[in-house]
Amino acid sequence: MKQPPVRPGIMDLKPYVAGESKLEGHARVIKLSSNEGALGPSPKAIAAMRVAAAVVDRYPDGAAVALREAIGRRHGLDPARLVCGSGSDELISLLVRAYAGPGDEVLFPAHAFLMYRIYAQGAGVTPVAAPENGMVADVDALLAHVSERTRILFLANPNNPTGTYLSDAEVRRLREGLREDVLLVLDAAYAEYVEKNDYEPGIALVDSHPNTVMLRTFSKIHGMGGARLGWAYGPDHVIDVLNRVRSPFNVSVPALAGGEAAIQDHAFTDLAREHNDYWLAWTAERLRALGLNLTDSVGNFVLVTFQTEPGRTVNDADAFLRGKGIIARAMGAYGLPDSLRITIGTGDEMRACVDALAEFVAG
Ligand SMILES: *Cc1c(COP(=O)(O)O)cnc(C)c1O
Repeated sequence: MKQPPVRPGIMDLKPYVAGESKLEGHARVIKLSSNEGALGPSPKAIAAMRVAAAVVDRYPDGAAVALREAIGRRHGLDPARLVCGSGSDELISLLVRAYAGPGDEVLFPAHAFLMYRIYAQGAGVTPVAAPENGMVADVDALLAHVSERTRILFLANPNNPTGTYLSDAEVRRLREGLREDVLLVLDAAYAEYVEKNDYEPGIALVDSHPNTVMLRTFSKIHGMGGARLGWAYGPDHVIDVLNRVRSPFNVSVPALAGGEAAIQDHAFTDLAREHNDYWLAWTAERLRALGLNLTDSVGNFVLVTFQTEPGRTVNDADAFLRGKGIIARAMGAYGLPDSLRITIGTGDEMRACVDALAEFVAG
């Protein structure tokens, strides 16, 4: 039977493999594979989504007015310059499709979030990866890889899966070294976790420099990955473009209601940040004390790089953790074949994970 022809490039795509959540033989697993936020959603967001469930017969407000106003209040932003999306993933995809096409390039650091490459390939756009410097994005290497065909530069700051970040000064240097007509997309999915004086998520840069967009998500500190909700802050002309290409009802009624409650729940986000501060430091310190090699992560996860001798490899570690009902995330797809990314979960989960790795290291 003849099949309709698929556009060039699509069949070369490898579907994104999400973090696993089930393990054969384990009724309960410790899922540390998707950076989902240790504390679940805010109780206020849950309550708002319950109420919203009763009115899902009605289409959502396609303009997401109340949610954009709530985000604007929380971050001091003009709601007219915000667009909400079905996860920030959708916004990444829309930016690629709106600003790049076959023959064009999108640029990102070597160990960047995988979706930049996947959406580029899906749109027939050439993905270009610039080398990093010790698992940190390298501004000079990125600038050296800009070509006439470069349309977008994606920088996750902090980056997933390395957990490292670029200072405000470095991001500014990147923007100032870029051609003005190259869109700089700062993906600040983990911004709320970062407690560094020299970090800026992108709001100030969007305000001070043209053609810069910041993306945020409710999937991480707000613990709402299952609701699919993200947002973009950018200049009027980019917001206008996103509003033209998005689907009219891209954010569901429960996601709008849950997001509005979550963004106003300062106490919950403070608690989640404090939890992460404590358990990130706790976990990193103990894993380093075991002799394991970690990046300096400022996100809600650590990246552990294992040795290559038999019995000590990342696959051995992953299998050992799975035997204990713990699922982390192997990073081969990110060009990090010896690394395992471990999300910061609850205190009990981190104790179990550190104990298991101590046992693994002891052999
Ligand atoms: C998790 C993540 C996202 C996005 O997620 P959505 O759930 O689609 O909002 C975006 N960028 C990075 C770097 C992430 O780690």
